Amino acid sequence: MAENKQEKEVLISIKGLKTYYPVKKGVFRRTAGYVKAIDDVSFDIYRGEILGVVGESGCGKTTMGKSILRLIEPYGGQVLYSFPDGRKDIFSMPKKELDAARKKMQIVFQNPYSSLNPSFTIFGTMQEPLIRFGMKSKKERKEKIASLLQDVNLPPEYMERYPNEFSGGQRQRIGIARALSVDPEFVVCDEAVSALDVSIQAQVLKLLKELKEKKNLTYMFITHDLSVVEYISDRIVVMYLGHIVEMAETQELFENTLHPYTEALLSAIPVADIDKRRKRIPLQGDVPSPVNPPSGCPFHPRCPKCTEICKTEIPQAKTIIRNGQEHMVCCHLAENLK
Ligand code: SF4
Repeated sequence: MAENKQEKEVLISIKGLKTYYPVKKGVFRRTAGYVKAIDDVSFDIYRGEILGVVGESGCGKTTMGKSILRLIEPYGGQVLYSFPDGRKDIFSMPKKELDAARKKMQIVFQNPYSSLNPSFTIFGTMQEPLIRFGMKSKKERKEKIASLLQDVNLPPEYMERYPNEFSGGQRQRIGIARALSVDPEFVVCDEAVSALDVSIQAQVLKLLKELKEKKNLTYMFITHDLSVVEYISDRIVVMYLGHIVEMAETQELFENTLHPYTEALLSAIPVADIDKRRKRIPLQGDVPSPVNPPSGCPFHPRCPKCTEICKTEIPQAKTIIRNGQEHMVCCHLAENLK
């Protein structure tokens, strides 16, 4: 994405997003604490971009995607969506208005095997959202589904078949067609290619890029795979323990990595060219429990560059401008960067 920030239109503005789950204890199931799955996260999503979200399992990336769509009820914050009649907070919408707004926001799930109902034909599964959003004529629904299947490079006659008649790649194409059936403008792709073989992954990624151009879509692309996110994303958010630790345009993030966690993730990407390989930075242990997160910088128990201040003081987000682009990082080491 070559344009400057000033030229981009904000589609969704996420402000102070918190998704906490209560931890209940005792006979009376009193709330004894919270699992802070997402803890005070703020960023913008620009219209027409592919925003990659990466991090290890348990970092909160899937929870964040679902929270933005309000498939999980948030604990706090705002998700301001730009509708034609102005910006509205998804979190404070009454149910009826939220249902209508959902037409604009869809999700493609990770597992194509479990996201399709095995007892319905593809037509049966795909017509559900069309009926919900008011397409009464069966003939119209058939025509729409035929066109959607063609969009994902499947023959229209496949709509009469059942999910068990398809390969994993074909099922994921059907999942994508279903998500696009109500003509959304924002799609969360939650580990959408992770369950597929590598050769099929490449085909589905190419398809997602083509559909984005053809239908003017905006994607939030959630994955643990750094190679995939480098290929598909315009901009990348790196998450750790419910926080954003780094965010920048893709090339900038890969070439001028600032956060030690991102450095470690990038060092683990397999690279065929021996001259381009990074020195491997092994990460010790697992992501800590969000019920009882570490003091100071949440990454400090695993950080190879940890200093005394990291153990007690939470680093603040710092945004620097490089080549006209914003690069945000949350690390004490970056505090004096200009
Ligand atoms: Fe590592 Fe300290 Fe930076 Fe956290 S603040 S990432 S512990 S150097």
